[in-house]
Amino acid sequence: MITPRGLYVHVPFCAKRCHYCDFSVAHASRPPVADYLRALEVDLQEWFQRDGEPERVPIETLFIGGGTPSLLGVEGMTALARLLQRHFVWDHGIEWTAEANPNSLSRELADGWRRLGVNRLSLGVQSFQAEPLDWLGRLHGPAEAERAMGVARSAGFDRMNVDLIFGLPEDVRRDWIHDLERAVKLGASHVSAYGLTAEPRTPLGRWVDLGRVTMPGDSRYADEYLQASDVLVREGFEHYEVSNFARPGDSSRHNWLYWDGSEYLGVGPSAHSYLGGERIWNVFRWDRYREAALGGDSLREGRERPDHDQRRLERVWLDLRTTRGLDPADVVGPEADARLREWRAQGWLGTEARARLTPAGWLRLDALAAEVAGWANEHGGVNGNGSKG
Ligand code: SF4
Repeated sequence: MITPRGLYVHVPFCAKRCHYCDFSVAHASRPPVADYLRALEVDLQEWFQRDGEPERVPIETLFIGGGTPSLLGVEGMTALARLLQRHFVWDHGIEWTAEANPNSLSRELADGWRRLGVNRLSLGVQSFQAEPLDWLGRLHGPAEAERAMGVARSAGFDRMNVDLIFGLPEDVRRDWIHDLERAVKLGASHVSAYGLTAEPRTPLGRWVDLGRVTMPGDSRYADEYLQASDVLVREGFEHYEVSNFARPGDSSRHNWLYWDGSEYLGVGPSAHSYLGGERIWNVFRWDRYREAALGGDSLREGRERPDHDQRRLERVWLDLRTTRGLDPADVVGPEADARLREWRAQGWLGTEARARLTPAGWLRLDALAAEVAGWANEHGGVNGNGSKG
């Protein structure tokens, strides 16, 4: 029997694909909710093939992400919750997050979701300025972003994440600090700041290949990243993970499950699960997922069980990416002490008892994690069982 602590549900529909997006998304302004729920039911059955009466699994967090879950409306979310409750059970202590895009968040939707039990809203704002929003191919403008935050607040969402994107090309006129301050002023209790990347097979990736767009250099990216940390920390947020900032006590419990090695289940196209030391992922595209579900084929596209060294590197990388940092017992070997002193001198590591990276250190996360895992490989100092020992 599977016993995930958290559940992720991927809703793969968007009214328009943004220029930089390579997520599992199908174009639909009115999603085929009945088909989607039928396919999800098959996905859940594949996980819960058991004899006799199904037993419901308790979960602590539920995250409805996408795509654009707000396209489900109140009715679609109600039907989704009913389906999930056949397999899972939760109480009022659950953290139930749902993502929404500003243009599809109405007051009716916000009120309906609150009544259902959604208690954390994540808004795909990206910017409060017209030029970057247009350049990114977003459907909303600044006024809609501001309106959506007002709607969420008046519906009682005191836990509100705002996604912002940075690292745009220099010729896109954008005041990054203004965007950060606006998110705070309009009541965000959590900010996720992601750097733009030009993924292959996206319009942005093609523009970069054709030389029509020049992505910013490392120093501009680093400057904006550090500015986000400065502004939000000054406003009372904790920079608790590479890309995430929260008011005290408002960090994402669901995302902590990914970072602390807990088990979670993901359903829907492209969703990932981590169960019994194995990573398992679903068929990526909605059309193929739907066909597989209707045709009785497996919805799992792949699985892997990381070996000892992979688990060790991953454990170090996950610990270093949050303020939790590494246990000193994990950092061993004669060269480790000297290197950690150097990192402190460079300003990459804080002064706490645990080895915690600073924002400047997070800019080098991959290289630093690989280095620590390398010391541990030589000296056997990191618990590599995928969970904290
Ligand atoms: S709204 Fe989000 S998921 Fe949808 S296309 Fe844009 S970036 Fe992708």
